[in-house]
Amino acid sequence: MTPASTSTATGETVIRIHELHKWYGEFHVLKNINLEVARGERIVVCGPSGSGKSTMIRCVNRLEIHQQGIIEVDGIELGENLKNIETIRSEVGMVFQHFNLFPHLTVLDNCTLAPMWVRKQPRREAVEAAMQYLERVGIAEQAKKFPGQLSGGQQQRVAIARALCMHPKVMLFDEPTSALDPEMIKEVLDVMVGLAEQGMTMIVVTHEMGFARKVADRVIFMDRGEIVEENAPEPFFTNPQSERTKLFLSQIL
Ligand code: ADP
Ligand code: MG
Repeated sequence: MTPASTSTATGETVIRIHELHKWYGEFHVLKNINLEVARGERIVVCGPSGSGKSTMIRCVNRLEIHQQGIIEVDGIELGENLKNIETIRSEVGMVFQHFNLFPHLTVLDNCTLAPMWVRKQPRREAVEAAMQYLERVGIAEQAKKFPGQLSGGQQQRVAIARALCMHPKVMLFDEPTSALDPEMIKEVLDVMVGLAEQGMTMIVVTHEMGFARKVADRVIFMDRGEIVEENAPEPFFTNPQSERTKLFLSQIL
């Protein structure tokens, strides 16, 4: 891949995770997670399966509930307050491993649903914006099709466009390419690189280390519910500090 793009990070904190703990029943899945993400910053999260990566990012839009610690998005604290949860959810876009498109809606309707129902945008405006985002991810000509009629790579690009239609302040990606056939990975990563270059604040759980090298401002390594190590991509890959990071990298690189 080409050399790392320049950082678009600013000094302003958009996501603040402070001393976060979460349990699934007795199981302590997240242990004292501390992470601050600046506006425009691109974070890549990696680590072994089961280390808590999905759980951590799902806590950021309350798809999972944390029991201890503080999570703030744009200064709004995520807790019991339903208004806050609603606000944060509308500002945090999420892209999943398995796309999670609505199968019974067309590509276009997938993209206009939330803007019309959550943001109360008139249909015409929502359609216009959706078509622009579908254009941007290279899929406008498929707007009338249903998700099942598209390839995995195309579906994932629709999922990205759908999230962008809400004009999110932050985008979370949970292994967006790991369910794709190899030849489709690049078309999705290219869209994500484009987003990063435009200054989107992103947390990306991925094992695509080429992507991490190219766009990440910081790489975070998680293991057994903890952030074990974090660093800029170059030192992270060339000079990992902890034995656990070294072992992990030796298995994936
Ligand atoms: P990762 O994304 O790093 O693979 P996850 O966040 O999905 O890890 O899972 C972390 C750990 O929590 C795993 O041991 C997983 O089995 C467990 N876990 C995940 N979701 C649940 C759940 N809903 N209930 C109980 N345990 C869960
Ligand atoms: Mg996961």
